[in-house]
Amino acid sequence: MEDCGGVAAGGGGKKPFQLTRSLTYHHHQGHRPAASAARWRRQQLADEPRAQRPQAVVLYTTSLRGVRRTFADCTAVRAILRGFRVAVDERDVSMDAALRRELQALLAARGRAFALPQLFIGGRLVGGADEVRQLNETGQLRRLLDGAAGQDPAFVCDACGGVRFVPCTGCGGGRKVFVEEEDRVVRCGECNENGLVRCANCCS
Ligand SMILES: [Zn+2]
Ligand SMILES: [Zn+2]
Repeated sequence: MEDCGGVAAGGGGKKPFQLTRSLTYHHHQGHRPAASAARWRRQQLADEPRAQRPQAVVLYTTSLRGVRRTFADCTAVRAILRGFRVAVDERDVSMDAALRRELQALLAARGRAFALPQLFIGGRLVGGADEVRQLNETGQLRRLLDGAAGQDPAFVCDACGGVRFVPCTGCGGGRKVFVEEEDRVVRCGECNENGLVRCANCCS
C-alpha cells in the first residue's frame, strides 16, 4: 500500500508508459501506428476495463400491447439484457416512425422479415427473442456482450424517466412552428410524428 502511494506521488500524475518503443515494436507486424496509438490512448483513459471495447447494444422494441406475443417477447429480452448489467440503447418503434423505418431497412438488407424485438450488438444482428433466449442458455450471449458498456440495471434517466423520448422543445410537442419570415405555420423539423425527440441524456 505504502509503496504504491510512493510511486504514484513520484510520478507526478504522469503514467509510466513507453509509447514510442511499443509502436516501433508493432510496426513490423503490420499494425497501423496512428490507429493503434489512438486506441491505446483511449484504453489508458478508460476507468473501467469494460469501457475499452465499447460495443453498442441496440434493442428495437415496441411498447404497444396490440400483439401479446410481441409485447411479451420485448419484455423477456429486456429482462435478459438487464441481467447482464449492460447499457442498452432501446429503440421503441411505436414511439417513432423513423425508428421503425430504420429497423425495416436493417432487416431488409439482411433478407429478414420485419419482426420485434430485434437485438443488435456492435452493429451485428443477433436476432429476435428466440435467438436471444437460445444464446443466453448456451452462454454465448455473455460472450457477445463482453465489450458492452456497463450500466446499473436500476438506472433511470432523470430527463425522460426511462421513456427515452422527451417533448420537442422547438414546438412544445405541438409539431407546428410559426416561421416569421414566411408568415406561416409549418411542420416542426425537429421532432417526430408524435411531437417527440429522442432523449439526449440517455440516447445516442
Ligand atoms: Zn417539434
Ligand atoms: Zn433519457
